[in-house]
Amino acid sequence: MDDCIFCKIARGEIPCHKVYEDNDILAFLDTNPVTRGHCLVITKEHFQNLLYVPKDLLGKAMAAAQKIAQAEVASLGAKGVNILINTNEVAGQTVMHFHIHVIPRYDSKDSLKIDFIPRQISELNLPAVASLIKKDL
Ligand code: 5GP
Ligand code: ZN
Repeated sequence: MDDCIFCKIARGEIPCHKVYEDNDILAFLDTNPVTRGHCLVITKEHFQNLLYVPKDLLGKAMAAAQKIAQAEVASLGAKGVNILINTNEVAGQTVMHFHIHVIPRYDSKDSLKIDFIPRQISELNLPAVASLIKKDL
């Protein structure tokens, strides 16, 4: 993936503020942090997004995200953490190389606002929706 920003970071062609690295995974600070210590965890290998990441690598990436979350609480004084994986443009993905956001939270009224606006339950046929999802698992 010649012109993928995160592939370039993984190859060391673009600098980053690295916080974690092993054979498969790299984690570094986001250049436009939502809060202090906002990190991105990526697979070194290019996958477009969550939908394409092999299970073993996904497990390794999530384990790294957990370690970083623990460090943010222990060392930065975060009171909590949001783990976020934007998947495809409609969900806010702008860099098309799989990444996990690890976002430390210090104050529930800080700059990150994740709103869940539930629809009226009566509009939804929950058993039918559950069946459709289960059919493809
Ligand atoms: P997305 O919207 O795709 O879930 O998140 C992409 C993230 O990558 C954004 O938060 C953005 O600030 C970050 N980002 C984009 N380009 C770079 C870069 O060159 N270096 C670093 N460290 N972060 C980047
Ligand atoms: Zn890439």
